[in-house]
Amino acid sequence: MDPARTDRETGSSGGPAPAVTLHRVPCRDALSKCGIPGLDLGLNPYVGCAHDCAYCYASFMKRFTGHEDSWGTFVDVKEGLLEALGRQVRRLRAGTVMMSSVTDAWQPVEATEGLSRACLRLLASSPLNLSILTKSDLVLRDLDLLSAFHDLFAQPRVTVGFSIPTMSDEMAAWLEPGAPPPSRRLAALQALSEAGIRTWVFVAPVLPGLADSSADLKALAVEARRRGAAEVKVDPMNFYPAARHRVESLIALHRPSALPAWREAASRAVAWRQDVSSFEP
Ligand code: SF4
Repeated sequence: MDPARTDRETGSSGGPAPAVTLHRVPCRDALSKCGIPGLDLGLNPYVGCAHDCAYCYASFMKRFTGHEDSWGTFVDVKEGLLEALGRQVRRLRAGTVMMSSVTDAWQPVEATEGLSRACLRLLASSPLNLSILTKSDLVLRDLDLLSAFHDLFAQPRVTVGFSIPTMSDEMAAWLEPGAPPPSRRLAALQALSEAGIRTWVFVAPVLPGLADSSADLKALAVEARRRGAAEVKVDPMNFYPAARHRVESLIALHRPSALPAWREAASRAVAWRQDVSSFEP
């Protein structure tokens, strides 16, 4: 099918966001091995992500999918995903699935495609646990299905994590231009928590010079817990070249006073990452 152009949700920037090109691509396997400790399988209903976070580590997916366009400007919708998922799930008796590791399963296209919602419906009747990580309050739409994830002993089988690197909607508007602002993520977290879903916050990545002081991290952790998060984890910025240069150019444009701290952290990245990792929010 020819690629289709679609308007991207305005996300946190509030202004018109660039259009995203949609492709439909065949899908052979829905679940793949997940290298993240504690998680067995990854489920990524889409390739690409219109949230377009400047620090995104998943942009390496371009290499494997033949995309030459910029990360954040394309989304591939996987056709045949549900059939593949059904086939794979029938062979599994246990395990934890992560949605999603290299895309955001509740990015704007999900509002019309409903692929992630269909996956939830299928997984809800499986024996598998589900771990969701998202930047979108669209996941709240699926509360009815999330509430159905219980094991034989009525114990919940799903957790929903929200990735929130900063509480500043203003900063998120230029760092994550296609994603809903942090204030909406926190409101969604609260609504899910109040509905009995286990939630947590992933401060990822911790951004030096912007939101990495212990006061910043503590304030975010306090707010997350006040909204019902059972857990708060931090993941320091990984200064791989593409992400480093993109974030640095945005800091130069929007927050030049933060440049010295950013560059200082980048110059001793390993030690800085260790310092931040040891922080217990
Ligand atoms: S939401 Fe996640 S996958 Fe999407 S652009 Fe941001 S960091 Fe990348």
